[in-house]
Amino acid sequence: VYARHSMNFQLILEEIVATLRPQLGQEGAVANYIPALARVSTNQFGIALRTVDGHEAAAGDAFTPFSIQSISKLFALSIGMRLMGEELWDRIGREPSGNPFNSLVQLENEQGVPRNPFINAGAIAVTDRLVSHCEGKIEMLAQLSSVCNEAVHYNPEVAASEAATGYRNVALANFMKSFGKIDNDVATVLDVYFHHCAIEMNCLQLARAAGYLCRDGAHPYLADRQVVTERQARRINSLMLTCGTYDAAGEFAFLIGLPCKSGVGGGIVAVVPDKLTLCVWSPALDSTGNSLLGRKALELFVARTGLSVF
Ligand code: GLN
Repeated sequence: VYARHSMNFQLILEEIVATLRPQLGQEGAVANYIPALARVSTNQFGIALRTVDGHEAAAGDAFTPFSIQSISKLFALSIGMRLMGEELWDRIGREPSGNPFNSLVQLENEQGVPRNPFINAGAIAVTDRLVSHCEGKIEMLAQLSSVCNEAVHYNPEVAASEAATGYRNVALANFMKSFGKIDNDVATVLDVYFHHCAIEMNCLQLARAAGYLCRDGAHPYLADRQVVTERQARRINSLMLTCGTYDAAGEFAFLIGLPCKSGVGGGIVAVVPDKLTLCVWSPALDSTGNSLLGRKALELFVARTGLSVF
């Protein structure tokens, strides 16, 4: 606790930007299976954090909005847990998949029950439950606008681009439906899912929005309001550590040791429970769909600060 107060986070983030900026555009590639994302410049890097007591730091392109993509799975899960409690787990597992985020291979043996809520199949299953319980699109924007304390929007062009090319997601949803594990119309569920992925936020907004995960579920701005319960927050952090970066989750846990959730827009949200939430963004991805410089930035951050959940 004392170490935290003596750390100059602004300086640390600026050092990370200075270290990694020369590597921009050298390795990795943007996600090209979604045409609207393929046009994003790889020459961008941002990082921001917010501590439990509201102290903030931001460096590089921390104020440039980007497509949050699978980071939305974190917020969809949080809303689902809040609305449904334990019932949500009837159709979604909690095991790391060891497979790419859009893989179909395990779904057949598992009778249409996805291994966890952070792969595409799992998030589509969560979205189906949301569609049954609330106006999925409206609820997500309301939730995100509340926890990051300003209005949040979709990028309609990205949502349309995903819908036009989301063949695998269509396959995953139909496959689960064939096992009777999707209640609603597949097109409706996918429309909500694609809109969730197409939300645009910047690093600082995401560091604020995920704040409840380092505060035992307490709302980052509204006193006496829980976004999720303390136990739910702990469970979400556990799932982020084991499943939040897909088939690289073991590598992330080994190298970084923090609960993380990534998206193919190049963003990664990381949580240091009881201390801070952090968001890093750089669009060039590795072969597992995680931001390459984002991972390096988190490695530098934990090395420099000594922060860890272990
Ligand atoms: N919208 C992307 C998809 O459905 C999200 C994937 C990701 O960020 N890993 O394929």
